[in-house]
Amino acid sequence: MTEQTPSKPKRVLLAKPRGYCAGVDRAVVTVEKALETYGPPVYVRKEIVHNRHVVETLQERGAIFVDETDEVPEGALVVFSAHGVAPVVHEQAEQRGLRTIDATCPLVTKVHMEAKRFAREDYDILLIGHEGHEEVEGTAGEAPEHIQLVDTAEDVDKVEVRDPSKVIWLSQTTLSVDETMVRVNQLRDRFPEMQDPPSDDICYATQNRQVAVKAMAPECDLVLVVGSTNSSNSKRLVEVALQAGARASHLIDYAREIDESWLSGVDTVGVTSGASVPDILVMEVLAYLAERGWGEVEEITTANEKIAFALPRELRKDLVR
Ligand code: SF4
Repeated sequence: MTEQTPSKPKRVLLAKPRGYCAGVDRAVVTVEKALETYGPPVYVRKEIVHNRHVVETLQERGAIFVDETDEVPEGALVVFSAHGVAPVVHEQAEQRGLRTIDATCPLVTKVHMEAKRFAREDYDILLIGHEGHEEVEGTAGEAPEHIQLVDTAEDVDKVEVRDPSKVIWLSQTTLSVDETMVRVNQLRDRFPEMQDPPSDDICYATQNRQVAVKAMAPECDLVLVVGSTNSSNSKRLVEVALQAGARASHLIDYAREIDESWLSGVDTVGVTSGASVPDILVMEVLAYLAERGWGEVEEITTANEKIAFALPRELRKDLVR
């Protein structure tokens, strides 16, 4: 008689922290409150946060998303997204007589302030980030003549500085912590005197979500990351899951995007979500998995977040108390 190996129980590991960070929460509430307070339409430059569901829900309530301020009718109200904008965007809005609310995350603003300060002190600033990402465009716009973007390893070789003893690196807030350090080490090989930023630029939310994924990934056959393809921090969670030992990992906007074949031969599914994802979308993924036998859910907690940011001043003054 052949002995059968008992099959392992199907289970879900759910990362905590996951989902909304304080900056995203503030940006979404800003648009909601602006719609309530001033009535639609409220224009929003770029996606307020990089999540399809959030953008579509706000659109239904009267938000109009535009790429540039010249698409906003003169005198109308426009909200700037959580990713931040270059000073030239504020100037253009002023020239067109637009009313503005700036929902830039305070942690992105912190990097803008660092960029301005080191540009004023005449440093060459090496900004580690992804080419074309809105946050990087906003930060680089603070001091274009002092900032060089470093995205790939090839970019490290192309960097040219005026004085190797006066160089500092800064970064986008939503990068992979480990990959950023690889890039920093490559830069330091070229510029040994390069200075570190005064404090971490990769934000607490990005770091915490990566730590939680790392903790659960080694036990997972599959890690599902709920998030949109244009969300930098969500894409990094897929990479971190794979690097930390998950056998497979996929980025999905909605439960309906899960391919049944991904679940074949899978015992443990890890679930997490990017910083711009409302938890309802994660709950839908858990319901999808429960219907297929993965009903046991264990939360893996690596941090408890208590950070909250006040709404933008321009909006607060008009809110009914
Ligand atoms: S991911 Fe970080 S920097 Fe981006 S909005 Fe959230 S808290 Fe702010």
